[in-house]
Amino acid sequence: MTATTPGLVCAHHHLYSALARGMPPPPKTPTTFLEILEQIWWRLDTALDLDMLRWSAMLGAVEALENGTTAIVDHHESPNAIEGSLDVIAEACAEVGVRVNTAYGITDRHGPDGARRGLAENERFLKGGGQGFVGVHASFTCSDESLEAAAGLADDLGVGVHIHVAEGVDDIEAATRLDGLTNERWLLVHGVHLPADHGLSGTMVHNPRSNLNNAVGYANPVRFSNPVALGTDGIGANMIEAFRLAYVMQRSVDVTSGPDDAWSWLEAGWDLMPEARGDQVTWSYEPMDPWHLAFTPGVMPVEITIDGEVVLADGKPTRVDAAEVRARAREQAARLHAKL
Ligand SMILES: [Zn+2]
Repeated sequence: MTATTPGLVCAHHHLYSALARGMPPPPKTPTTFLEILEQIWWRLDTALDLDMLRWSAMLGAVEALENGTTAIVDHHESPNAIEGSLDVIAEACAEVGVRVNTAYGITDRHGPDGARRGLAENERFLKGGGQGFVGVHASFTCSDESLEAAAGLADDLGVGVHIHVAEGVDDIEAATRLDGLTNERWLLVHGVHLPADHGLSGTMVHNPRSNLNNAVGYANPVRFSNPVALGTDGIGANMIEAFRLAYVMQRSVDVTSGPDDAWSWLEAGWDLMPEARGDQVTWSYEPMDPWHLAFTPGVMPVEITIDGEVVLADGKPTRVDAAEVRARAREQAARLHAKL
């Protein structure tokens, strides 16, 4: 028995993170979210070059298709390979046949010049016809000037800002810092430590697996009046798994809740990337409804059609050889890990 759905959307991903698996452990075990950033993610992103990024994005795109995800909202950072990085991501996704919206997450962590170059990469990519947001890492790593410059560029270009918001306690001032800058086009990622009456406009992206992994707390997104969508925050692009986790996390604080909220968050991805609605995913299982999927493991796509082209057949990408992509990604991971 099979069933067909539109292509799923991952509303927050980091395609640069696919090569993190198996990286050498940090010199000392991180004990806080900030230490996880400093000792894992910021160590990894500063070591990235464009070859590593290309194969990380290729692998991430292959894994998205293999899980029925045809559209990715990506958030990127590679502070020593900024210029051209968004093109590398867009081209890798196009090669595999996955839709992508990407943004360079600017930050003042590497000084104001780093933030300026990040902003210029967003501008270059978007003005060149790229699909994306203006990216900001998070308010706690940016000056007021950088936040205002990003918001201004986004307004000029008619797009929103894609930004991590109050993921950990280190960003507890986010609502104050961003007051007056946001609008409904913004993508506010996490919101774990935002008050319910935070006053920020935009779609909230809930990433339950990442929040559990970083032990930052539970966002409890039903408390927000903003639209809510689901993301993975760089841990693959299996949106059925993200839905299942979102559902049980909600149950953990409210045993009366059913899967409909979490399912609506999955569906909200189509408001961010409407073109995925026209993609067709044929699944190994039916019925594809929330109550079944909340408890059924191993539901996989069999075939995916995008713009009339079959990009996944018998569960395998058709445009690229997935085994070859994995082999190349392994080579680049070895180069990357040797630099850490
Ligand atoms: Zn993220």
